[in-house]
Amino acid sequence: MFRKPYRLGENFLRHIGQTSPSPLGIEIQRAEGVFLYTPEGKRYVDLVSGVSVSNVGHSNPEVIAAVCEQASKHMHLMVYGEIVQQPQVDHATLLASQLPGNLDVIYYVNSGSEANEAAIKLAKRKSGRREIISCVNCYHGSTQGALSLMSSEKFKNSFRPLLPDIRHIRFNSFEDLELITERTAAFIIEPVQGEGGVQIPVEGYLEAVRERCDKTGTILIFDEIQTGFGRCGKLFAAQRWNVVPDIITLAKALGGGMPLGAFAASKELMDLWQSNPVLGHITTFGGHPVSCAAALASLKILLRENWVDDAERKGALYRELLQGHPAVKEIRQIGLLLAVDLGSSKSAEMILPLLIENGVMSDWFLFNENSFRIAPPLSISEEEILYSAGLIAGALDRL
Ligand code: PLP
Repeated sequence: MFRKPYRLGENFLRHIGQTSPSPLGIEIQRAEGVFLYTPEGKRYVDLVSGVSVSNVGHSNPEVIAAVCEQASKHMHLMVYGEIVQQPQVDHATLLASQLPGNLDVIYYVNSGSEANEAAIKLAKRKSGRREIISCVNCYHGSTQGALSLMSSEKFKNSFRPLLPDIRHIRFNSFEDLELITERTAAFIIEPVQGEGGVQIPVEGYLEAVRERCDKTGTILIFDEIQTGFGRCGKLFAAQRWNVVPDIITLAKALGGGMPLGAFAASKELMDLWQSNPVLGHITTFGGHPVSCAAALASLKILLRENWVDDAERKGALYRELLQGHPAVKEIRQIGLLLAVDLGSSKSAEMILPLLIENGVMSDWFLFNENSFRIAPPLSISEEEILYSAGLIAGALDRL
């Protein structure tokens, strides 16, 4: 029973831990395909996808059916790794068949941050080294280890001490790769930087990264948490450059809308968790059977539909429709991940409320203050792209 009169918005601000003084605060009652609906029936085109989560569209009936079916059989049974659970095994087998190279053993966790935490632990365990290198303007999560990888002092400073022995190099700088040495346990990189505002690797960069890590015996970790599952026009973004990491970390769209994280590596690497110490990484809920059932349904959909192959064409269509607008300085696009750069933080700050007014949900990037995001579900139709680009252009006109 509510002690006071029930006011959802007030209770949201009073009882839900807030992360900023100005949350969006829009109530969404249901979501379908690329649309989000308020209780009053106002409709928004979702150009965020819960930050690259809802790749198969909201309320996908196959994902819902898989969730309901698994929930009716069993939910959590035992800590991760002990009991044979069909949704986990079936999903891991299918995912392993799609991952490049020898990345065919999957370890399930709860989130992207946890996947990265575990990946850097595994790299230390394998190499016996301590130094970790990441990129300027990377985002790998908000837990202490993942936060330590961030370059932004603003986000890190209040939380020190963090992990020691972290260095940052510039994304796309061939010269900086020399800083990866025989001391370096791991180099962790997003093949396309998401929160850096869609930074795309230049020709030959990821190949050079692989070469340098091979030369120095450094474990290469690709964080495909935001770029994976078709967002960049291939099931995994790194497949666009045919570069295979030693560990790939996954989350977001992995669970088809349910919470799930994972990392994949070779059997040889993954087997290290079993000794020195035994139980090298422990999780209670990692690989929850309902999440894995949703993940399996979602992966089957992505493999069956032509949405992944179409993502590049659809993203290019947004770019063509918007790049001539006088308010747009630049558009960085790969697949259905776009940063529309307005050339100033003031314009970028002003555009989101205008987009919301026009019925479009967008978002900023953590480390690129001049741009806003277009990253709809991959299921978006051409008609919906034309419609939403029109709404965006209308908002840009008002800047
Ligand atoms: N890595 C990347 C590239 C991300 O974009 C994110 C989240 O935005 C994370 C890691 C962290 O994932 P999570 O929020 O599930 O911990």
